[in-house]
Amino acid sequence: MASTPPSRQKLTLPAGGRRLLLHSCCAPCSGEVMEAIIASDIEFAIFFYNPNIHPRAEYDLRKASNIAFAAKHGIPFIDADYDVAAWYARARGLEHEPERGIRCSMCFDMRFERTALHAHEHGFDVISSSLGISRLKRMDQVNASGVRAASHYPGLTYWTWNWRKQGGADRMVDISKREGFYMQEYCGCAYSLRDTNADREARGRPRIVIGHPHRPDAPPSSSS
Ligand code: SF4
Repeated sequence: MASTPPSRQKLTLPAGGRRLLLHSCCAPCSGEVMEAIIASDIEFAIFFYNPNIHPRAEYDLRKASNIAFAAKHGIPFIDADYDVAAWYARARGLEHEPERGIRCSMCFDMRFERTALHAHEHGFDVISSSLGISRLKRMDQVNASGVRAASHYPGLTYWTWNWRKQGGADRMVDISKREGFYMQEYCGCAYSLRDTNADREARGRPRIVIGHPHRPDAPPSSSS
């Protein structure tokens, strides 16, 4: 017998917050997060700042999918810089760190620092990110970076809500299928592309082709 999907919980911002700036890594991860926030009547905007994504063609594909979904719902989309040189400068010496290691903490820190700065300068009192919804990410690592970034600004809070809860992780996949999002096959940076390809080759699988037709039956292999 099919189980009934859990109904959505009406969410409220922490610390009495009124406006949320949501850092988005990609459409597959932010689709469910956005729908949860919309269903909760929370005022928010999307902040797309992901200079980690390599190559540029992949970055453009992920961003375009995210822009289209935000436009469909009338959600403001803030397209921040693609300052790859700054990202590589911070990644120097971390090129061979594994995923979920210290290079990823740096990567989250950098993106959330910029999100927090924008929030501070534009009247948002809460920030959060879609990054934590992926089961391939360590939520404690994502949250630690977010809390650290927000702590630089008085009155700014990082919302550590677990987006995977109450069916969120499953809805993320369902929404991606329904919307036909571009589905990435690696986390995002050149090093994750290198390592994912090496793993695929070791398993006898073909290398990743940037811009391959999305496979709406499959969840993203990771999120940026
Ligand atoms: S593996 Fe992903 S989270 Fe880690 S540094 Fe690369 S893009 Fe950032």
